Amino acid sequence: MYKFNFSPGPTLVRENVRLARAKSVTNPDIDVDFVYYYKSVCNKFNKIINSTGDTYILSGEAILGLEAACATLTEPGDRVLVIDNGVYGHFFKDFVEIYGGDTVLFTTDYKTGVNLKELDDFLKEDSNFKYATLVHCDTPTGVINDLDGICNLLKKYGILSVVDSVSGMVGEKVDFDGSKIDIIIGGTQKAISAQPGLTIVSISKDAKKAFKERKVPVGSFYANLMIWEHYLEEEYFPYTLPASDIMSLEVAIDNILEEGLQTVIDRHAKLAEAVRESLKAYGLKLYLDDCFSNTVTAITLPNGLKATDISHYILKKYNVLLATSLDTFRDKILRIGHMGENARFATIFYIMSLLDEAFKYLGYETDKNLRDLFLENYK
Ligand SMILES: *Cc1c(COP(=O)(O)O)cnc(C)c1O
Repeated sequence: MYKFNFSPGPTLVRENVRLARAKSVTNPDIDVDFVYYYKSVCNKFNKIINSTGDTYILSGEAILGLEAACATLTEPGDRVLVIDNGVYGHFFKDFVEIYGGDTVLFTTDYKTGVNLKELDDFLKEDSNFKYATLVHCDTPTGVINDLDGICNLLKKYGILSVVDSVSGMVGEKVDFDGSKIDIIIGGTQKAISAQPGLTIVSISKDAKKAFKERKVPVGSFYANLMIWEHYLEEEYFPYTLPASDIMSLEVAIDNILEEGLQTVIDRHAKLAEAVRESLKAYGLKLYLDDCFSNTVTAITLPNGLKATDISHYILKKYNVLLATSLDTFRDKILRIGHMGENARFATIFYIMSLLDEAFKYLGYETDKNLRDLFLENYK
């Protein structure tokens, strides 16, 4: 059964990316050419995030990347700062603790980005952390954090950074080297717009040094990033890689590089701005006060309306999937995903038309039309 998927990830996948998976594949374990092919895809990915770090594509969805970063850095008793201004931000606590880390939460208002000065004041009192975790775009609310400011600040205090940019990168600028990020994690199914299944991690020299200084071995094989270190010299991978997934990821990266990374980022910004402005003009409230990501917009539902009612109406009548939110926000927040291949005028125009109908059908009173407002604001 075909459904139009307009959720904030997994996103739409272009035909050339889908078809790449249908090609015949080599044996990635014994074909040395594949090792160099894999390396070339990692190098292409590095252009997207401006990284000169060690980059690996792991066989597993983005959650594997998050867990692997924590597994490989954490030794029992290590103090870890969990920067928490969203659902995924808080989620890191579990990964750190599974591997024996001692977490301290820096929890701030979920309606805005992390305030640099508040973080600096906090660190002035206590900066004895091996690393800190943070989220670039926390997708359930769409809040964007200032990666550059936060990671540079952490580095000043000698704290390594682990960044979940799964729903940020490509839709928002990432400068891995310039922002002095130590480990960044991405996933194929968000703004990269390939199918779910792979996670990509990039690792700085400082993070690698911390891996090497461990006294206790990593309590995992699959989530141990150190097993990748010598694959190129040894021309051998730790496990059989999903060659088809990697070939389709390469095409997705090529699509981005061919359009031009900056053009892609600008496309996200222009559509996101028009979405936000038209929703406000329609009388709806955005969940956030500020720090809006250009990859997803969260709307707080007016009294009496449930996010799930809107999404069910649109699914039933048009076979279109829209997302509500996670956790405690499920009924309260409706999300418009505008990342990757979803961030196209026609797609968003269609979503706005459907939302206008659904809101009115469910009793929202207005004499405005959301689709017209979107057109007016798309400049
Ligand atoms: C999508 C996403 C992930 C991966 O989580 P899944 O729910 O398994 O898709 C991790 N972090 C963020 C911020 C995400 O948006």
